[in-house]
Amino acid sequence: MVGWRPSPRRYGRFPGPTLAAGWTPVKLAESGGIGYRRPAMAETALLTVDNLTKRFRAPLSGDTIFAVNGVSFSLGVGETVGLVGESGSGKSTIGRAIARLLTPSEGAVVFAGEDIARWSTAQCRTLRDKIQIVFQNPWGALNPRMRIGRLIEEPLKLHSGLDGGARRQRVEALADRVRLSREALDRFPHELSGGQLQRVCIARAIATKPRLIILDEPTSSLDLSVRADILDLLAELQRETGAAMLFISHDLETVRFISHRVLVLYLGRIVEMGPSQRVFERPAHPYTRALLSARLPVSGRRGDRVRLEGEIPSPLNLPKGCVFASRCPIAIADCLQRSPGLDPIGADSAAACFRLGVV
Ligand code: ADP
Ligand code: MG
Repeated sequence: MVGWRPSPRRYGRFPGPTLAAGWTPVKLAESGGIGYRRPAMAETALLTVDNLTKRFRAPLSGDTIFAVNGVSFSLGVGETVGLVGESGSGKSTIGRAIARLLTPSEGAVVFAGEDIARWSTAQCRTLRDKIQIVFQNPWGALNPRMRIGRLIEEPLKLHSGLDGGARRQRVEALADRVRLSREALDRFPHELSGGQLQRVCIARAIATKPRLIILDEPTSSLDLSVRADILDLLAELQRETGAAMLFISHDLETVRFISHRVLVLYLGRIVEMGPSQRVFERPAHPYTRALLSARLPVSGRRGDRVRLEGEIPSPLNLPKGCVFASRCPIAIADCLQRSPGLDPIGADSAAACFRLGVV
């Protein structure tokens, strides 16, 4: 498999994550550029999600909500994968199922060689230091009555076995690491800005040296001006710690800066996956194309624009055929009858569409 490092020129001031140990540079025959070959998945997969399915029961009606429907992918050691999709497509449910904050209805979640999908609550407690999750809303994630220093110390108390003095030293080191002033450690959450609070959440997440960090829209609630700094910090931490990251966002541009690979989700199904560069430069699925063209300025490449028509179907009634057919500009009758599987495109990509190659 060939992964790509985003070029600094294309991605502006973002450095792009350096690829982790085991990746080797290769000369690409096609473009003459340099790509990066990832070691075989079997050697390096930290996480393998297989046929992950989650159904909820609607609280009032009792109807079944099909939130996640047969999702499969792997995440390599030290790899950052972006999970993109509109609101309600099942992104947070996937993140929570992997961190085992909820139990999948079906499927396997193999983390570091063990299927944790059916683990008991007690077993899942042993995962807390290995898989961390950072949420969209830092205000809701932090106890408002605790000072910042204690909030950062909390995971160390639970998981590190360090004594009080060593813990305090580590809290200060963590604050420095996420570029939070030492003075902030004595403050309460309401005295800090959203960006500073998200730094606190990130410090808590890296405190236990997790192997996997799930970031669920970590910059979506922040002012535009601080988003870039937080993304920069995350890319830097990924490089330094070698932790794998699942970066969830409804915003493709955000994911582009930070991810080696991208998964595109629609109505609880992956419709496209592949290396970031390929997905952004040559999106294969009409939904990915629509998402990307929605970002283009009106004066942009108008000929390429694909508009999303109609409403996203309800997760209460999954369509019989392709999940995207009701909004797809190139759907044919067959697309309403049969559901396309995720078929490989080249060596490192896949898309679920009967109409690949049709513009
Ligand atoms: P996203 O993060 O992509 O916005 P979610 O994973 O939060 O999507 O939600 C996917 C679908 O599952 C939505 O239709 C949502 O309403 C539903 N859902 C999520 N959590 C629950 C829950 N605890 N109970 C019932 N329905 C839920
Ligand atoms: Mg969400």
